[in-house]
Amino acid sequence: MSDEHSVTRKHNVRMLLQKMRDGIIKELSANIDPKLGITYPDAEADLKSDVQPTLEALHKEGFLLKEQKENVTLCRRCNGASFKIMHRCPNCNSLNLRKGMVIQHLTCGYANLESVFAEHDYVCLKCKKRLRALGVDYIKPGVQYVCNDCGNIAQNPIISLKCWTCGELQSIDETRYVEVSTYTLDHSKRELLAKVTFNLTPIIQRVHALGWVAKKDYKIRGKSGVEHTFTLGLWQYEHGLREAPEVVVDIHMDVVDDVHVLTLYAKIIDTGVKNAILAAVPIATEKAKALAKYYDITIVEAEGADALVEKLTLAIEDVIKS
Ligand SMILES: [Zn+2]
Ligand SMILES: [Zn+2]
Ligand SMILES: [Zn+2]
Repeated sequence: MSDEHSVTRKHNVRMLLQKMRDGIIKELSANIDPKLGITYPDAEADLKSDVQPTLEALHKEGFLLKEQKENVTLCRRCNGASFKIMHRCPNCNSLNLRKGMVIQHLTCGYANLESVFAEHDYVCLKCKKRLRALGVDYIKPGVQYVCNDCGNIAQNPIISLKCWTCGELQSIDETRYVEVSTYTLDHSKRELLAKVTFNLTPIIQRVHALGWVAKKDYKIRGKSGVEHTFTLGLWQYEHGLREAPEVVVDIHMDVVDDVHVLTLYAKIIDTGVKNAILAAVPIATEKAKALAKYYDITIVEAEGADALVEKLTLAIEDVIKS
């Protein structure tokens, strides 16, 4: 059995790993959203919340490989990723700065923008002497920022960032520096994966041998207009995939209770499917079993992934043959 503290105890985490094992999800790559910061859309569909801590836990537990792709700067307060970037005077904190080529008069040490010297016909504002030759009595130290309030000249003003989402003002050092990674399933961890996911291939092969077709992660729109997903959809070969499946299978990698039975019942009513099998790993509650019996849903209980394949294959054969 898996560790009792493992995140894989949660059904939705197992379903995500299952989709990755089945190749439905190839990799979990990040999306940088200006408002939401880092998101993992493919993982969010299953996990709903705590996505990044869960992926990180799955990486630490050995299920997922992690590869850093880039980094992103996030707001320290709301994790948003878009900022208004402002330059501030390092001396007086003013935002009132001009940027341009600077001239320093070596004779007296006075410095200002070249444009200011030009306005005064290259006569120094401080010592009133005319500038003569570059490199002789004045130099150009480069493009810099001149403060209109205190006169300070700085090559590197303070960069402050204002979050577009929450308005928080922060320096670069105060923002959150976050590594952005892509996660893939470590298929080499066969034993580890076998504890929390199942292998549908033997079931599908058995179904084919009986002249039926099986489709994994089968999506169908119900009469209500809502799209439903079943772990498996099954058809007799000659009927093809055109109509609704004759049999559907849902697998729940956790204790199945009455709510899960009702959910499946609602899905089959909406889609018009006649036969449904609900597999529980490891068990279903008594209430769930009673409800399933009433709604004519077959419950299969299996203590682990191997037993699941065996028992589910038998249950599907029973339904197909009847
Ligand atoms: Zn200043
Ligand atoms: Zn001067
Ligand atoms: Zn913010």
